[in-house]
Amino acid sequence: MYNDIMVKRGAERSVIRELFEYGNRRKAEIGGENVFDFSIGNPSVPSPREVEAFIRTDTGGHGYTSAPGLPAVRKAVSDYIQTSFGVPMSEDLVYMTCGASASIVIALTAVIEPGEEVIVPAPYFPEYAVFLEEAGGVLVPVPTDEKFHLDVDAIRCAITERTRAVLINSPNNPTGAVYSEEEMFALGNMLAQFADRPQGPVLLLADEPYRELTYGAAPVYPMRVYDHTVVLYSFSKSLSLAGERIGYIAVSPKCREAARLFEAVCGAGRRHGYVCAPALFQRAVTGSLGQCAGLEVYRANRDLLYTSLSDMGYTCIVPEGAFYLFVRALEPDSAAFSERAKRHELLLVPSHTFGVEGYVRISYCVERSVIERSLPAFAALMEEYRAAK
Ligand code: PLP
Repeated sequence: MYNDIMVKRGAERSVIRELFEYGNRRKAEIGGENVFDFSIGNPSVPSPREVEAFIRTDTGGHGYTSAPGLPAVRKAVSDYIQTSFGVPMSEDLVYMTCGASASIVIALTAVIEPGEEVIVPAPYFPEYAVFLEEAGGVLVPVPTDEKFHLDVDAIRCAITERTRAVLINSPNNPTGAVYSEEEMFALGNMLAQFADRPQGPVLLLADEPYRELTYGAAPVYPMRVYDHTVVLYSFSKSLSLAGERIGYIAVSPKCREAARLFEAVCGAGRRHGYVCAPALFQRAVTGSLGQCAGLEVYRANRDLLYTSLSDMGYTCIVPEGAFYLFVRALEPDSAAFSERAKRHELLLVPSHTFGVEGYVRISYCVERSVIERSLPAFAALMEEYRAAK
């Protein structure tokens, strides 16, 4: 009677959100301070003061904007990209969206013909699979290397006649990896070898909600390494606006037939009802492009968690960006390990949902006190496994 696939997707829910909802129920049962909820990437720091002040005082009204966004906002985004990253951009190629999720689903629908393939380095953000299903595409996972960085040779080997795009995410959820300038140029140079195919270039889709959240050098802007690039951005994490749903798509003017590609973006936005992103928040972000709320808080959380867990004997790679620690599970089955952790009130996302086995993701965009209080539970979990050996 109803669309079976939609019923299935609605009923199964995301593993991350399932754990988050479990955490809310558990907090109601035993008290919030007794649950160590590392499930979801919901920023704990407030939005920048000027964003909050703008929201309180804005008199711009609440009417519809143009479908791709307010002209002044699109221009501000375009100017920002040009001046900050030294690449050409045009306001005519900027589409304001309801966050990265909308950016991704619009971009995928805009470029994919049914059955075409999109290469995704694994581990990857689980909703990519859902968004690709909607677009009629096929997700082709390609493992990253042992430090979760790109394996450009493996990506090249995965390219077929039907490959439409490579979808990357750096800084990365769930691993915290930030792809270096060198590996990004290696990727761009490799993709350039396929740019003249009769069926069109392999596009680079760069999902960038964590761009500003880096603890080292700023990541290279993807449009600098490859012409046929579309950037999918969100202010959810950088400005702590996850619940307000605001982001953008920026199509590089160097893309083959960029204006036509942008028309496809507009068409996909229309088809999904993703037109006219929230007006107040389009205006609110305009004065804070490139800013980042809470980087030092997240850095301190990262250091505390990484050092403490490493000292206890857990294995993990120090995150270079975003706010996730990807830790080896203490048994091969990540779901079983996550269940065991739950008994210690630790909510850790099992890695099978990110397309790889044997890890859990710890989202550390939480109050520092949550991490401090959780450490005895992590120690007890480790002891439990050691005792069972
Ligand atoms: N892409 C990645 C890699 C993410 O981690 C997230 C959210 O956690 C999204 C996209 C979706 O972001 P948004 O909240 O802006 O839709």
